[in-house]
Amino acid sequence: MRPEPLFPIFVPITGLAGVGPKIGKLIEQLAGPNIVDLLWHLPVGLIDRRYAPQVVEALEGSIATITVIVDKHEPSPRRGLPYRVRCRDETGFLNLVFFNGRENYLRRQLPEGETRVISGRIETYRDDVQITHPDHIGKMAEIGRIKTVEPVYPMTAGLTHKSLGRAIGAAVDMAPDMPEWQDAAWLKSKGWAGWHASLHRAHKPESEAELMHDAPARARLAYDELLANQLALQIVRRKQRKRPGRSIGGNGTLRERLEQSLPFALTGSQRIACSEIAGDMKSDTRMLRLLQGDVGSGKTVVALMAMLTAAEQGTQAALMAPTEILARQHFATIEPLAEAIGVSVILITGRDRGKKREELVSRLNSGDTPIVIGTHALLQDDIGFDDLALVVVDEQHRFGVHQRLALAGKGAAADILVMTATPIPRTLMMTAYGDLETSRLTEKPAGRKPIETRAMPLSRLEDVVDRLRPAIASGAQIYWVCPLVEDSDVLDVAAATERQAALAQRFGDRVGLVHGRLKTAEKDAVMARFAGGELDILVATTVIEVGIDVPEATIIVIEQAERFGLAQLHQLRGRVGRGDRPSSCILLYGEPLGETAKARLKVMRDTDDGFVIAEEDLRLRGAGEVLGTKQSGLPQFRMADLAVHADLIDTARDDALLILEKDPDLKSERGKAMRTLLYLFERDAVVKTALSG
Ligand code: ADP
Ligand code: MG
Repeated sequence: MRPEPLFPIFVPITGLAGVGPKIGKLIEQLAGPNIVDLLWHLPVGLIDRRYAPQVVEALEGSIATITVIVDKHEPSPRRGLPYRVRCRDETGFLNLVFFNGRENYLRRQLPEGETRVISGRIETYRDDVQITHPDHIGKMAEIGRIKTVEPVYPMTAGLTHKSLGRAIGAAVDMAPDMPEWQDAAWLKSKGWAGWHASLHRAHKPESEAELMHDAPARARLAYDELLANQLALQIVRRKQRKRPGRSIGGNGTLRERLEQSLPFALTGSQRIACSEIAGDMKSDTRMLRLLQGDVGSGKTVVALMAMLTAAEQGTQAALMAPTEILARQHFATIEPLAEAIGVSVILITGRDRGKKREELVSRLNSGDTPIVIGTHALLQDDIGFDDLALVVVDEQHRFGVHQRLALAGKGAAADILVMTATPIPRTLMMTAYGDLETSRLTEKPAGRKPIETRAMPLSRLEDVVDRLRPAIASGAQIYWVCPLVEDSDVLDVAAATERQAALAQRFGDRVGLVHGRLKTAEKDAVMARFAGGELDILVATTVIEVGIDVPEATIIVIEQAERFGLAQLHQLRGRVGRGDRPSSCILLYGEPLGETAKARLKVMRDTDDGFVIAEEDLRLRGAGEVLGTKQSGLPQFRMADLAVHADLIDTARDDALLILEKDPDLKSERGKAMRTLLYLFERDAVVKTALSG
């Protein structure tokens, strides 16, 4: 049950006075559907109306609040000329100017002979002091309300500052005062006030400094959100850990044989990752571990070692990839290695139907085959295992958490290993998974040549094309990447098609094209021709971002590189440098280049360490966009900014650990306040499903 004090703010914004369906819709687009969402819509600026000069000393251009006597109305003499209201104080005259002013209304607002408080921007016109369209007009009694610092909120077209400000003001006034959930000593050490006071303060900044992320009121609210996030994650993790897992130790024989048959030695970080995974599998709790490593860092072998551990124990392992191509590629890598040491592997994708599929399924059912590789086809109901003990999921951010668990559900207490080639910054990891166990492959396999990265303006495109000819003559293959044009896949397909046509004029029919609008089979066919060496150049939209492995491809040209995010550029660049020949990456940029884009291209030239790039990406772009929010499945924050509140995340993690250790079911006084906090930030699913009582 949602705590009672929160009832009034968890109702639609149209419940606020003055917010009808029309304004409500606009505010909803801007902030969210409920009153509580308005609380999180913080000002981005302020207007200081505390300057209250007399007319004669009012500074031109300043915002001022002036008390005057209304002298005389001078309605507009003809169309196009303004309506004037002459006012004065003891030092001089102040004209109020209205274009298209309605006389009735203005006479009611500003009766001649009466005193009024006016606030707006001071102008001079000829020798007169004037205010055009004052922001506020009020009686003397209202001066306290007018002569303040007014917050300026992020806006959307169709809304007025006044109506939004009024709605938010009303929402903030409805915010209940609740028992404190933060530790008193911690608050004191940070100089933070209570939630209620902080919320009010955050909406009533008195200086520019108070608009900053580190202003006490904002930091407090951000910390509340981070603590709610860490608490929710850890509550779920505690519950998960309590569910029985099983100990999968294996006897090491298959793993030893694999190591001996590999044409290379494992890198140090592969070795460490293997032993971390083995440790988890052997323990009798369930493994949930993330294996992070750049493209080409050798995750597949590590995953195979884990799957062999399951096989040694007489159990089964499944590897699920997000696309057909990736599943086939994993199969092509893994199958010969496994076959060589006498372990059979099967591949199941959506394309297997009828008899073939039945046969594959029965091999899994019977436990005949210890290792299966596939796409989400593995999730289908007819696929059952004899004894599934390990699930490996590749490129996790393309799957929902839900799917990951669905596959694990086909085994009794299966361990889960998630592989990702997207280096996720540590701060993001923390907020998405809490302290999820992570293994990182930080070294590149021996013999890898670094990729030379160069940035050039698009105006030099012809030079670049000229240099492709000798490269092709010496056997190089080339990726040519065209950008997304404004989210429109029609336009970006057009751009890529045009580029392919232009390159085909120069290089003939050994120039292929892939883009997102092709059917899977068509795409696969073109990719396969490129991989098979039948094409010299592959023009592509970002569909190759996570794609095929062609060691002979040693050049990648990225057109309008400034339009890509850092993480994406890094992923794309990882398509080359996979063989033993030196590779290069050419970033063609459109001019003029903005500051952020310039910084991004510099990072690309300076490093090819995915983790460094991920941190820079977070710094340059902010958390929301790092992984492409839509498919990332990462939590969204309203108050916290992961790029600036990193230190608070660590504290919140420790704080949450401590709280749950002392009070695992959140039953103490502070525990109850914590439940309210979880509800406030809409982590209530956790309270309902993972907490008892
Ligand atoms: P990832 O999946 O992390 O992108 P892969 O597992 O596909 O990388 O490995 C890329 C290539 O590197 C593969 O051809 C693989 O055989 C090879 N490889 C993996 N580990 C090593 C190593 N320790 N030394 C040399 N080559 C390796
Ligand atoms: Mg791989």
